[in-house]
Amino acid sequence: MPIVDTSLADVAALLRDAHDVTLLGHVNPDADAIGGALALGLALRARGADVRVSFARPAELQESLRRLDVEGLVVPPGKLPESEQVLVAVDTPAVDRLGVLGGRVEATKRAGGSVLVIDHHPSNTEYGTHNVVDVEAEASVVVVLRILDELGHELDANIARCLYAGLLTDTSGFRRASGDTHRMAARLVDAGAEANALSYELLDAHPFAWLPMLANVLSGTQLEPDGAQGLGLVHAVVTRELASDVRFEEVESVIDVIRATREAEVAIVLKETEPRTASQCWTVSLRGKSAIDVSAVAKACGGGGHRLAAGCTIDGTADEAMAALRKALADAPRL
Ligand code: AMP
Ligand code: MN
Ligand code: MN
Repeated sequence: MPIVDTSLADVAALLRDAHDVTLLGHVNPDADAIGGALALGLALRARGADVRVSFARPAELQESLRRLDVEGLVVPPGKLPESEQVLVAVDTPAVDRLGVLGGRVEATKRAGGSVLVIDHHPSNTEYGTHNVVDVEAEASVVVVLRILDELGHELDANIARCLYAGLLTDTSGFRRASGDTHRMAARLVDAGAEANALSYELLDAHPFAWLPMLANVLSGTQLEPDGAQGLGLVHAVVTRELASDVRFEEVESVIDVIRATREAEVAIVLKETEPRTASQCWTVSLRGKSAIDVSAVAKACGGGGHRLAAGCTIDGTADEAMAALRKALADAPRL
């Protein structure tokens, strides 16, 4: 089992002594980051610790994830205490992915506190004093459950729901789940995770305004059969104008629609963000099917991620961003 650096027994010992814990997810936290942080946070709180969960941006948790926070553990960065005894970063491979909260890592270490890193990204830089990184785990919540088991903490419905949410989304609805992961899901359902309701909330549900946005974006979607080293590339652009009536969640869903394109090994969505400079700025989602390592493409453009799901941020026009991505795709390693 490729758990590196810190043994589960050492992590459990650290958490048994923890009485003041801040848990962080990466910027734009997903169900794996927030579900993992909340699950561990709920368990530590039940054991008597002062616990809070936060992330640098956006200002609020996306709506579909808010119901996971049954005990109101999530606080904005401005409401965090000055320091904490134990800082936990979940699903966050490098300090810069904590955004403005990244400085707490060094601050906690300097003050003699502990930093526990729980993750499954191959690019993890092990920036904690304690690191539990399993690059073969399909989600960070898998690692969180191992830690809860090591602590001997019994699953309840609130914790199971948080863990299930991370598993569900990081495996694309269990499509990429091993037998062990399905067995873990069965445990979570037995403990009270509502499989059908969570799938609907986290994967399917959108307001009606999603449909016209999608129609506009899909009408501009392009297929390049010769792209992605001849294996096919499909790409779409979501400008701020097209996304003006919908939330972040609706924009994030576009990649899951266009990646269904059979003729394309790689799918890319450019999502326009607030400009950081005078030029346009794009948050990019990349998805592969099986043959090309898209994390290498994202990395070449300043981002990162997993072999089949990665992302980056690129300044410039949409055409310039696509040109940079095509160039990186041409050099990307085959799997
Ligand atoms: P997304 O398309 O936003 O769902 O991102 C897919 C995966 O790519 C995430 O799970 C992250 O691991 C990674 N990722 C996305 N954006 C970045 C970034 N700017 N830098 C590093 N990794 C990223
Ligand atoms: Mn994540
Ligand atoms: Mn993850």
